[in-house]
Amino acid sequence: MKKKITLTGKILLGLLLGFLFGIALKQLPSGYIKDTVLLNGVLKILGSGFTSAIKMMVVPLVFVSLICGTASMGDIKKLGRIGGKTMLFYLGTTAIAVITALFLGSILKPGAGLDMSNMVSGEVTIGESKSLVDIILNIIPSNPIQSLANGEMLQVIFFALLTGIALNLVGKNAEPIKVIFESANELCMKMVNIIMLFAPYGVFGLVSSTFATVGSDAIIVLLKYILIVLLGMIIHVTVVYGGLFKLFTKQSIKPFLNKFTRVAAVTFSTASSNASVPVSLEIMEELGVGKTTRSFTIPMGATINMDGTAIMQGVAVLFIAQIYGVDLGINDMITIILTATLASIGTAGVPGVGMIMLSMVLTSVGLPLEGIGLIMGVERIIDMFRTTVNVMGDNIATLIVSNSENDLNLDLYNSKPLKKVA
Ligand code: ASP
Repeated sequence: MKKKITLTGKILLGLLLGFLFGIALKQLPSGYIKDTVLLNGVLKILGSGFTSAIKMMVVPLVFVSLICGTASMGDIKKLGRIGGKTMLFYLGTTAIAVITALFLGSILKPGAGLDMSNMVSGEVTIGESKSLVDIILNIIPSNPIQSLANGEMLQVIFFALLTGIALNLVGKNAEPIKVIFESANELCMKMVNIIMLFAPYGVFGLVSSTFATVGSDAIIVLLKYILIVLLGMIIHVTVVYGGLFKLFTKQSIKPFLNKFTRVAAVTFSTASSNASVPVSLEIMEELGVGKTTRSFTIPMGATINMDGTAIMQGVAVLFIAQIYGVDLGINDMITIILTATLASIGTAGVPGVGMIMLSMVLTSVGLPLEGIGLIMGVERIIDMFRTTVNVMGDNIATLIVSNSENDLNLDLYNSKPLKKVA
């Protein structure tokens, strides 16, 4: 009998082939075939087509699933409890992430011995970072339709939560609307299932164009910086996520990791937490996490929980301080922990924003913003990894919180993965 490859297997294959094809393509000289037919033709259609298709689902899915989740809680106290636990996890792990990064950056010194005169800083355009008050005020939308249209996730979350709470309070009279949202939710999830069938091709297109265009000179110069950031992420994932998961759920992490490969392929190829929301919701459902928890923690996490970004920011700050010969004291370190934690909350789940928010952290300790130009060359690669860590944090938090709320179906969690044939 012919053995069929699972969807996850196909996505991983797309990732691997994309990587190899991208590296091979980089060796080709520029020309019609490489630039027009491949990079701006076939690969762009595959990659951007897939990204647009999943992005298309983010706003409707977050909106309806959050309303359904809140409306099904039946009790506002429960929402407060889940919200409290989730925020505690998100903020706590982010602060730990920055501390780990600062520790590694201080002892391994990513910037030591780097001769700045060799580096071309190039044109750096750094977007504006917002103040804390603006970030808080910006959560309340003045026009929810506009928030939906612009994909302002925190505003969409705010409006959806309020709608869900109100549906609960109205009770029986709001039942028809609740039913509509529930079937809309099912509809959205089915659409996500269909789009994910194209993931292997999309991932191939995205990954191959990234590796065909990324600058390998920058990679060599910044190798130490890259390796320290990756080390920080590995420590965070294994010690913090692995440890907390074991401690709080007492379950094996394997079933989760098996499913997470599907999410990782999306985060790795799109570098966007927002874009991963549909597939995170999908695997959380498959792993037995109840709607109440997952519909709240996943969109929330994709918007505010960015541990990978925080690690990058911690190492980047020390890297920049070291190449400019600035000594940072303990007060500076504390400032960095606070601002990097806040900056990662304010970072939108789309590619590259973590780098913009880094300017807020650099400013807080008086470091030159020009330093950002130096690490720009490897930004995309780091973004692929940090987004994956960002989203893994959301998924782990979801499992831990749902388990603590008795909202995790352990039989489903531990059941053998069904061969999902596409
Ligand atoms: N790309 C990241 C994300 O979507 C954010 C960042 O730039 O750090 O999670």
